[in-house]
Amino acid sequence: MEYRKLPHGTEQLSALGLGMGGIHVASPEEIEAVVAKAIGHGINFFDLCAGGGSVYAPFGRAIRGRREKVCFQLHFGAVYDEQGEYGWSRDLEQIRRTFDWEMGLLGTDYADFGFLHCVDEESDLEDLRKNGIIDFVLGLRERGTLHHLGFSSHTPAVANKLLDMGCFDLMMFSVNPAYDLEKGDEYGIGTTAERAALMRRCEAEGVGISVMKPFHGGRLLSEATSPFRRALTRNQCLRYCLDRPAVLSVVPGVRSLADLDELLTFPDATAEECDYSAIAAFTPQEAAGNCVYCNHCRPCPAGIDIGIVNKYYDLALAGDQMAAGHYDKLAVKASACLQCGHCDSRCPFGVRQQDKMRAIASYFEGK
Ligand code: SF4
Ligand code: SF4
Repeated sequence: MEYRKLPHGTEQLSALGLGMGGIHVASPEEIEAVVAKAIGHGINFFDLCAGGGSVYAPFGRAIRGRREKVCFQLHFGAVYDEQGEYGWSRDLEQIRRTFDWEMGLLGTDYADFGFLHCVDEESDLEDLRKNGIIDFVLGLRERGTLHHLGFSSHTPAVANKLLDMGCFDLMMFSVNPAYDLEKGDEYGIGTTAERAALMRRCEAEGVGISVMKPFHGGRLLSEATSPFRRALTRNQCLRYCLDRPAVLSVVPGVRSLADLDELLTFPDATAEECDYSAIAAFTPQEAAGNCVYCNHCRPCPAGIDIGIVNKYYDLALAGDQMAAGHYDKLAVKASACLQCGHCDSRCPFGVRQQDKMRAIASYFEGK
């Protein structure tokens, strides 16, 4: 399992995490078994916006005795009625009661990440402020009950407003090739450029991203439902998300042990199995010529990691002060390019990498 460090913290999050949004359909025994098995396979990061209140008690049993091995994000604004039905609230008292109830069932006195839930409209942000919910979570963080603050959003413009506040260490954002290429649904908000700029901003500011909806609600997995009329595999989608700037962990939802077993093939999947360059066939004209860091063009005879070199370059151009430092640490830099043309001939996105390598070497190395 790969782990990625939270920039503003010491936590190392598993690149493959798990979402609990659909598992309420399983029995409590199966929920507990899923969480225990996931932890046993190195998954240490969980999104606890549960689709039903029945998830918290078995989750708590599964982490008992190994709390320090697990990180989770709790959502302030996701609430449950007496039947355990999920709901959505901006009422401080209801949110406070839900938080206390969740912590009791989870058997812990802290949450790793406290999230403002589903902040999609500017009016959501206003309500969170006005109703004292932002002050409430800031207070919990000050007391150490929350180790970090985060938020979930589907809207780049609103996410940028939240980032302006400067108090968040993690953002949950919906990412998949359909959303990024403007072929999604109501959760894939923003243009290709706006979404890319938001992710680069997060990377530059040290705000990690946890990814929701990596399979576009399952639509990308079937030719019949994919907006591209071509299916991708789960492992291709997971790799795609993990190659985006600032992404620390992807948290696909599971409903059963069988779902978990499918996801657990990811850590051992080969580079070929995860190669998502097939999306080039449905990349719109205006997005062609941009490197998506997929590394389909490897191997480079000079040993350049073409995807990562391009990512640092794009981040630096977007104002990321740390990108040059990351680039400096690379063992093989763009100046090693032999101008052999192999990558140009392999790239399905029409990137002219020979020219790009010259530009990158000049930018970072003055060569
Ligand atoms: S140059 Fe093309 S094939 Fe190579 S990493 Fe970039 S997008 Fe992928
Ligand atoms: S052109 Fe340069 S970057 Fe591309 S494969 Fe050849 S040596 Fe590597």
